[in-house]
Amino acid sequence: MTTSPRLSLNNGVLIDQLGFGLYKVPPEDAANLVIMALEAGYRHFDTAAMYGNESGVARGIVSLYGVEGIHGGSGESVRPTAREDLFITTKVWNEDHGYDATLRAFDNSMINLGLEYVDMYLIHWPCPRRGLFQETYRALETLYHEGKVRAIGVSNFQPEHLDRLLETAEVVPAVNQIELHPWLQQDELREKHRELGIRTEAWSPLGRGQILKDPDILALAAEHQVTAAQVILRWHLQLGNIAIPKASSWDRIKENADIFRFELSALDMADIARLDRGHRTGSHPDNVN
Ligand code: NDP
Repeated sequence: MTTSPRLSLNNGVLIDQLGFGLYKVPPEDAANLVIMALEAGYRHFDTAAMYGNESGVARGIVSLYGVEGIHGGSGESVRPTAREDLFITTKVWNEDHGYDATLRAFDNSMINLGLEYVDMYLIHWPCPRRGLFQETYRALETLYHEGKVRAIGVSNFQPEHLDRLLETAEVVPAVNQIELHPWLQQDELREKHRELGIRTEAWSPLGRGQILKDPDILALAAEHQVTAAQVILRWHLQLGNIAIPKASSWDRIKENADIFRFELSALDMADIARLDRGHRTGSHPDNVN
């Protein structure tokens, strides 16, 4: 694969547009998947305290400095060679909202990840009924000012949560990581992000695999002689989203990263724009607390 293009966050930090997601990856599998993804050219990894696999991710990263990648040997390895080439995101879980609890949760994540800094730290969900996301974000700002994280942001924030956050925030979030795919295109939020200088990061970018059977996507895939997953991920990139697909096999990991050798036309993009049906595969942010 050609490596992913990088986008600049609102503080100048660069992030690979294509990353690798690790939700529902058992801790014992995380290291191998990270090693495979590194071998396939991914440099950006998305985990969370709640996923319970931060230490597995750490074991995968450590392999960079020692063990050969399990799919190595081609002689043309695209694996990064230095910590600076990687972009690692983790997130503070709902039960750890609040200033002090968030600082403690961050320390735990750092121990699990075995890193000296993380590239991005996010509030996993706004949990509006807890009413603590402003305080939680203040802790993220402290970590940012202390140089322990290179960028801070949020996840699953609705427009009204962003408005409330910005009443007290000193640092504009670098990203809002939200459910986004062709069946849930999030036009309103994407527009709001554009106005505020926040990058849109798509979770479940493949709609948890549900959209891979969409006939319009399959037709585009046939036309471009690629797969449905590749059409969808290419669409994300051309929209300007950051996308973090998860996959559990070498073939899929490689397939999802092989999206830089074709382009969707304006007409193709317009066809996909028509597929939005407000379909969520995960929870609505107002219902998670
Ligand atoms: P995705 O949209 O990435 O879809 C993953 C599913 O699609 C898996 O079942 C996978 O199967 C399948 N799949 C992947 N690639 C292919 C392919 N090429 N062909 C066929 N099937 C494929 O869903 P996720 O929910 O995992 O989201 C991605 C990431 O987003 C998460 O891992 C996590 O990092 C993040 N996330 C964040 C959330 C948040 O609240 N902030 C919430 C949910 C996710 P298999 O694994 O069997 O290969």
